[in-house]
Amino acid sequence: MFNKILIANRGEIALRVIRACKEMGIGSVAVHSTADADAMHVRMADESICIGPPSGTQSYLSIPNIISACEITGAEAIHPGYGFLSENANFVQIVQDHGLTFIGPTADHINMMGDKITAKDTMKKLGVPCVPGSDGGVPTLKDARRIADEMGYPVIVKATAGGGGRGMKLARTADDLEEAFSTARSESKAAFGNDEVYIEKYLTLPRHIEIQVFGDGKGKAVHLGERDCSLQRRHQKVFEESPSPVVDAETRARIGKVCADAVANINYAGAGTIEFLYENGEFFFIEMNTRLQVEHPVTEAVYGVDLVREQIRVAAGLPMSFEQDDLVPDGHAIEVRINAEKLPEFRPSPGKITQFHAPGGLGVRMDSHIYDGYSIPPYYDSLIAKLIVHAPDRSAALARLNRSLDELVVDGIDTTTPLHRALLEEPDILSGDYDIHWLEKWLETYR
Ligand code: ADP
Repeated sequence: MFNKILIANRGEIALRVIRACKEMGIGSVAVHSTADADAMHVRMADESICIGPPSGTQSYLSIPNIISACEITGAEAIHPGYGFLSENANFVQIVQDHGLTFIGPTADHINMMGDKITAKDTMKKLGVPCVPGSDGGVPTLKDARRIADEMGYPVIVKATAGGGGRGMKLARTADDLEEAFSTARSESKAAFGNDEVYIEKYLTLPRHIEIQVFGDGKGKAVHLGERDCSLQRRHQKVFEESPSPVVDAETRARIGKVCADAVANINYAGAGTIEFLYENGEFFFIEMNTRLQVEHPVTEAVYGVDLVREQIRVAAGLPMSFEQDDLVPDGHAIEVRINAEKLPEFRPSPGKITQFHAPGGLGVRMDSHIYDGYSIPPYYDSLIAKLIVHAPDRSAALARLNRSLDELVVDGIDTTTPLHRALLEEPDILSGDYDIHWLEKWLETYR
């Protein structure tokens, strides 16, 4: 096992990893920008080291600075968290070239899944159901027209290098195709330096359902059920639950096995998420994330596992501590993301927290890096807390979420807590009857 792990991240996810290190008796090194000198992850880690100025590109994304921090502190492995360098294959290669261990999959697997055309092609070959669409890239508008005509509208033009909802354009009819095609290409070129696009059938009322997988890197893999993340704003998840209100045990076992077999087949190592759109009882693969997800705690609650501990074990060459048969879901978990944002515009609201009280009690987990007197810097993601509740069934989980939101106090800044409180009054949320467009539609009238 490692003696010391460096956490190449900040905020709640840095704390999450430090906590796992402590419980495993492993030393932890926090890295931070000058803007984060007073951050909780710096206080909580065994050691800390400043890696640059506030700008992410000069600190949390600076590969030379992070490698130097490992060399100075003697850390043997790096946990990337999510975001920042977590899906950067070049970083993984450099980490290995320096004799260090990256806690996550190989650079090859990250590359394979980072390119959406290759990812889809690989998954298709592995027997994972995919959204119908072009086989591979679509080089010209003429090709796009032919494919869209054959498939039928609406279609979505997507960048193979896309991410974070960028480089994705909808064409409802043939009249929209030319513009969708050229804007998807130019957006992708500008954002990712690559203008290759492909075409998919646009599903009109799907849910977003993702399967958590975990592999040992040696041909063995398991699944840990699904998370329903259909409640999204601008393709960003705001509320996640497991199990999905629409997935039964038989369906879970079937799609879960397809996913576990697929990643076992490629000797995938560590945590991964296979994302699907789900419509009329069918799953359609859209992408795979080769890292820990923000919403992993709902899976941890329902399956009673520690995914970060497991990531560290597998990276150290140990076997997984569970088999598929050990993984039996128990109860229902919901996570809400609390952001420092002013509603209804969702305008970032950094600043000083004058008072903070976290909810507690049975079945409540609060993953957050904020504290009384903490000043949220304006440079990073606005996520300030994840509130996760676990209860025997969905209605008990909703009740527990409601009372936990009642207990939560964050004064001095604006947060998205009122949004979650309002959502919990909506009959569709209470009954679980929502799709990926539900929240955007509802927000049009939310003031
Ligand atoms: P990104 O990597 O940019 O997040 P994804 O491929 O994961 O892109 O898609 C993000 C979201 O876009 C999905 O959760 C869904 O809401 C929507 N989306 C993507 N593909 C389709 C499709 N074929 N039909 C309908 N909606 C889609």
